Amino acid sequence: MVIAVSRKKLLLTAAVSAALLSAAAGYFSGRSVMTARSDTSMQEPIKWVDFNVSYEALRDTMEADISSYGEAVHYDWIELLSYLACVNGNDFSGYKEKSLTELTEKLSGGTDMDEITKEMKYYQYYKECFEAILGEYIGEFAVQTESDDAVVWEKKYGLKVFCPIAKNYSFSHYDDFANARTYGYSRLHTGHDLFGSIGTPVVAIESGVVESVGWNRYGGWRIGIRSFDKKRYYYYAHLRKDHPYTPVIKEGAVVKAGDVIGYLGMTGYSEKENVNNINRPHLHMGIQLIFDESQKDGSNEIWVDGYNILKLLQNNCSEVYRDEESGEYVRRYDYYEALLEGKEGC
Ligand SMILES: [Zn+2]
Repeated sequence: MVIAVSRKKLLLTAAVSAALLSAAAGYFSGRSVMTARSDTSMQEPIKWVDFNVSYEALRDTMEADISSYGEAVHYDWIELLSYLACVNGNDFSGYKEKSLTELTEKLSGGTDMDEITKEMKYYQYYKECFEAILGEYIGEFAVQTESDDAVVWEKKYGLKVFCPIAKNYSFSHYDDFANARTYGYSRLHTGHDLFGSIGTPVVAIESGVVESVGWNRYGGWRIGIRSFDKKRYYYYAHLRKDHPYTPVIKEGAVVKAGDVIGYLGMTGYSEKENVNNINRPHLHMGIQLIFDESQKDGSNEIWVDGYNILKLLQNNCSEVYRDEESGEYVRRYDYYEALLEGKEGC
């Protein structure tokens, strides 16, 4: 439950976004307010993103992308989602598979996406937003698997990001993004909480570089990992007292998607280090978007709702086991993706 954006700032950002938007584009209501820009050549970084894509839309577009891989017409899920957002004004609550099927039929019939979206003022804007959030979620990778009692590498195309809770460990969650928090100061919850047992192995969602590690008054023992394209910062907080991280976790270390990085706990809400001051053990998972480095820390931070993303990630959990020698949990099946090439330790 760690927060960097005060309620006031968050509301202010949304209000500014709404003003910009209504000036440029008419009126969007409620949660679908976005900082839409019709002219991406302005080069102003996007200032706020409301990620409203439903789980069903994520799942269906992902399946369309994966199943068409290698076919004459390969659907790009980010393009599919950008089109759908244009059609529904970024309100996916009424999403129906039919709208996606109609689109993929047009595409497979030979009409290209440029043609279909040429009158859609915000298509490029949504594409930039979804690219920042989901840009590295689907692609080619290799993963170890077992075949006839031997461990072999298998090349795949699909979801290459992992659930932050290791396979076979139970947890519960609900959509708690932007709920009120009061510790320290009144603010909104900028992440997603996964309630589980202390010591549950926590896994890296995406490959990247450890950018911060250590104690933070709100997050307790926490790890911050930046994606290689620098657009996403994953914040894992409230890790276990006394033994929060696996030994590999140091500032600057490269981690692979699916690696065990630490253990679930209840630290935080304390100036003093190594204190359990959270009521219920959970992992706070924050997903921050960075279009420009000025948005990394401070009042310009952009955090997105990870609830539906988490539901998607539950389809891909990393299996782990306890290494008897070190006592640490480690992944059972190794993983490789092209982004790791040339990176230290990979
Ligand atoms: Zn939280």
